[in-house]
Amino acid sequence: MKIIMLGAPGAGKGTQAKQIAAKYQIPHISTGDIFRANIKNGTELGKKAKEYMDQGLLVPDELTCDLVMDRIGQEDCANGFVLDGFPRTIPQAESLDAALSKIGQKMDFAIDVDVPDSHIVKRMSGRRACLSCGATYHIVAIPPKKEGICDACGKELVLRDDDKPETVQKRLDVYHEQTQPLIDYYKKQGILHSVDGTQPMEDVFANIDAIIGV
Ligand SMILES: [Zn+2]
Repeated sequence: MKIIMLGAPGAGKGTQAKQIAAKYQIPHISTGDIFRANIKNGTELGKKAKEYMDQGLLVPDELTCDLVMDRIGQEDCANGFVLDGFPRTIPQAESLDAALSKIGQKMDFAIDVDVPDSHIVKRMSGRRACLSCGATYHIVAIPPKKEGICDACGKELVLRDDDKPETVQKRLDVYHEQTQPLIDYYKKQGILHSVDGTQPMEDVFANIDAIIGV
C-alpha cells in the first residue's frame, strides 16, 4: 500500500496521512522528518542536504528523491508507506517513478484532499497563537476560554503573519502552480482519487479508507 497525499497547505492532508499510517500500520513519511533524521544521524545524504539548507537553498529534487528512496528502502516500509509533502512538483514525481521502477515498484494511490482556496483562507484566519507559550487555538474549532487570551499563560493571542489571508493565498498560488499539475499526472496513471476535504475530519478519513481499504 504505497500512498501519496496531495492537497493544498491547510487542506488537512497531514492529519489524514497520520490516521492512515496508524490504521494500516505503515510509516508516515514527510520530507521534513527525513531531512531532520538524516542530518541528526550525520548520514552522507544528510550532510549533502545540510550544505544546501545552510546556504538557504532548496534541496535539489534528485537529492530529495535519494533521501526518500533511502527511507522507502527501510524494513518498516515493506508493507507500504504514506508520502506527505513529496512529490511536490512534476520533476519530483518523475524522479520518484523512475527510482521506484528501477526496483520494480510503483505507487498505488494518490489521494487528493480537495478544499477550495476560500475555505482554507477562512480556516487559517481563525487560528490564534500565543507567542509567549506556543499554545494554538481556533476561534471556532478550539476557542480559548476567554476571547483573545491564552488559557495556559494568560497572555494575549495573535493572528500570526503565516495565517493571515494574504500570506495563505500566496502559499495557495504557489501550490496551484507547482503541485496541482501532479493531480493530472496521477490521473493519467489512473491512481488519482479525490476526497472532499471540507467534510469533518472523520468523514474525510472514512472516504479515504473506502478507497484504499479495498
Ligand atoms: Zn500562552
